Amino acid sequence: MARYTGAVCKLCRREGQKLFLKGGRCYTGKCAFERRSYAPGQHGQGRKKISEYGMQLREKQKARRYYGVLEGQFHKYFLMATKMPGQAGENLLKICESRLDNIVYLLGWADSRAEARQFVTHGHFCVNGKKVDIPSYLCKAGDVVSIKEKSAQTDAFKTIIEANGSRPVPTWLDINRDANSGKVINLPERDQIGAPVAEHLIVELYSK
Ligand code: SF4
Repeated sequence: MARYTGAVCKLCRREGQKLFLKGGRCYTGKCAFERRSYAPGQHGQGRKKISEYGMQLREKQKARRYYGVLEGQFHKYFLMATKMPGQAGENLLKICESRLDNIVYLLGWADSRAEARQFVTHGHFCVNGKKVDIPSYLCKAGDVVSIKEKSAQTDAFKTIIEANGSRPVPTWLDINRDANSGKVINLPERDQIGAPVAEHLIVELYSK
């Protein structure tokens, strides 16, 4: 299972905005973007004249980085999105939102999507009562995601659950804190998705 292993704060700096890829650190003064809000590298503070293609590319990269998806898989999601009814850009975001690692993060069971991905890989979660250890697993409306009972009893999970207990959960998910489970009520509409992405630019890029 391939994943990005480079420095994540550079990604925020490259995209020119905070993508909250590092959990708690993102909300502190240690955030690299707060300290150096320009692109990394020798020419990071140079002139910023960006072409139409450049804007489309940046938007696509931002979305990939926000969800922690590599290019090949992201393009597959786009092809899936074009075959679904409705707008391809919105469908693309819906697919990304329905990934198991994203849902685990949104339910407050991990500090970041990267951490959620690792927890899923380590087999700490079930979907509809069966263990699923594939971060890219796409959940459907009606699916119930839960923390494995044994995992939920560990100090590490108790701490995370408590620390993230006050983090708002999107309305398309119904969390049951007593049972350490969350139900996907339906896949989100665009206004329920927090991704800071202009998805129409991604559609334009892939449609060239
Ligand atoms: Fe981005 Fe978080 Fe790093 Fe700040 S601390 S640059 S928000 S990943």
